[in-house]
Amino acid sequence: QSRFDIDHIRSQFPILSREVKGKPLVYFDNAATSQKPRQVIDALVHYYSYQNANIHRGIHSLAEEATAAFEDTRDEVKRFINAAHREEIIFTRGATEGINLVAYTWGRQNISAGDEIIISAMEHHSNIVPWQLLCEEKGALLRVIPVTGKGELDMDAFRKMLTGKTKLVAVVHVSNALGTVNPAREIITLAHEAGALVLLDGAQSTVHLDIDVQELNVDFFVFSGHKIYGPTGAGVLYGKKHLLEEMPVFLGGGEMIKEVSFEGTTYNELPYKYEAGTPNIADTVALKAALEFIRHTGKENIRRHENELLAYATEKLEQIPGVRIIGTAKEKISVISFVIDKVHPQDVGILLDNRGVAVRTGHHCAQPLMDIFCIPGTIRASFAMYNTKEEIDEMITGVQRAIKLLS
Ligand code: PMP
Repeated sequence: QSRFDIDHIRSQFPILSREVKGKPLVYFDNAATSQKPRQVIDALVHYYSYQNANIHRGIHSLAEEATAAFEDTRDEVKRFINAAHREEIIFTRGATEGINLVAYTWGRQNISAGDEIIISAMEHHSNIVPWQLLCEEKGALLRVIPVTGKGELDMDAFRKMLTGKTKLVAVVHVSNALGTVNPAREIITLAHEAGALVLLDGAQSTVHLDIDVQELNVDFFVFSGHKIYGPTGAGVLYGKKHLLEEMPVFLGGGEMIKEVSFEGTTYNELPYKYEAGTPNIADTVALKAALEFIRHTGKENIRRHENELLAYATEKLEQIPGVRIIGTAKEKISVISFVIDKVHPQDVGILLDNRGVAVRTGHHCAQPLMDIFCIPGTIRASFAMYNTKEEIDEMITGVQRAIKLLS
């Protein structure tokens, strides 16, 4: 499938044929979680129907098959983000767990009183709270890169913030609330020059951009499978091998140990050192199907289509009096956040839902960012590979009707 055939794409997502409130579903909440193609659903059913066993321990055939399927996903992830080593891929529940893992292990070992951690004003709560907790515990300082009126990082302010005290820069690669693509390469270079490590929150970027962790030279990178057409509960932490090797363990239990005795315990090698207990085998196995699906469809093709949708929706929304788009960065992916004069976002969300159109309203787990724009929240439409201009027309009509009704 080299050409991008939207009908073919849509036919692979069973949920798109359902109705909501008697109307065809228009799913524009992809930044929260994307829908799943049949390949992913089939992979889950196949695993439980024919392969289910606990992994890494058994010597029987089923255990070996299940282990191979699980480990195949690690190789696929390695390829997907171009990691140098498969041991650099740690399976987690999602982006949130990956960030917490780094905060609790690397953070506890390396952050002390007076050190500084830099985040940005456009972070998701999951890339704020773990660092707040760490800073409170250690007496370290959390510093915040300001965001401009266009919804871009203030890079001059960032440059000035970097000092010998900076130990870590933890920033979002792509903003879930605004769609802004941050200059990751530049951030990483600047941080490294100051002697700091960088964690990139790739929860939103991994589905839209080509991710090459070696080219980025990023130290830690996290993402969630459920936002890239894969199952919930299966995510990834990438870390440079030498860092993961030096870091202390996280959760204790089975699988992460080499030998246990009451005199002392030795730990397993990477990546198992960070995968205590029975992992989420089925969802991790099915994540491979999602990554293959994206690879076969072609990220370039997907991006072209999504960019067209973004441009189209932006143009249509800008024509509606009273609508203001929040986040007008030069580099954006297909997320569009907007507010309407004298109309509460939630009321619009409810009226759109009555037309079968699913958008997200509220603060998008980025309350500090909403405070900067002095708004309680936005209406957010986020587009995926299966969305169409006709669906955007449906939303636009819904927004126009909502304005008539509510203002
Ligand atoms: N970071 C960003 C930018 C996100 O959009 C999200 C999910 N909305 C997360 C982190 C957290 O992802 P998860 O809830 O899957 O752990």
